Amino acid sequence: MERIAANLREINGRIRAACERSGRPVADVELVAVSKTFPADAVAAAYAAGQPVFGESRQQEAEPKIAVLPSAVRWHFIGRVQRNKLRKLLPHFEVIHGIDSSKLATVASGLAVELGLRPQVFLQVNIGGEASKGGFEPDVLGAEIAAIADLPGLEILGLMTIPPAGPDAESARRWFRRLRELRDDLQARHGVRLPALSMGMSGDYEVAIEEGGTHVRVGSAIFGGRMVGMDAVTG
Ligand SMILES: *Cc1c(COP(=O)(O)O)cnc(C)c1O
Repeated sequence: MERIAANLREINGRIRAACERSGRPVADVELVAVSKTFPADAVAAAYAAGQPVFGESRQQEAEPKIAVLPSAVRWHFIGRVQRNKLRKLLPHFEVIHGIDSSKLATVASGLAVELGLRPQVFLQVNIGGEASKGGFEPDVLGAEIAAIADLPGLEILGLMTIPPAGPDAESARRWFRRLRELRDDLQARHGVRLPALSMGMSGDYEVAIEEGGTHVRVGSAIFGGRMVGMDAVTG
């Protein structure tokens, strides 16, 4: 558990350095500590070390952790969102990173209004056009963003992506840049506000920050390796 505090110190130092390199204030970047597959004790240790925000990818796994941790802990949902789970998710998660279709956005909007909530959401983009990954195709998002932005009950923070796997951190840079350019283009052409970019994981969060990332989702670099078969990043 001391390891977790040391890892957090190291990562926060690297985040600060990446912000300095790119001339950005460190307050621009939120570290989301991805605690999927790790027990509530590990979250408690990170929280005690000063980390307030955690990411989970499965509602069934998250719920018992949320129940035993202090209510001041803040939760982001980073997994693939199943429509029939949204009603359970919305009350617990202040940010949903994986809204990947207009249909899902519409359902989330209706539920948010019904429940009197205003969740913050990221629209997930399949920036590499991979068959295995979820998310909006960039063209589709261009056609639908104006209608999505008009939906009541949702605060759209911006775009999220999981780039194609590559051999090293640098290989992710062009995908991160492409997401930022897509965001700039959508803002310019459709008059929407997309201030945030959720991109970067343990292997490439510094590059993501250099390319404009505002939310980095870091798991194994904080908590250690996950068991094989439990760490699928499917998006
Ligand atoms: C698991 C996961 C992460 C964290 O991955 P690490 O490589 O452990 O940092 C980030 N984002 C999503 C969507 C994930 O599923």
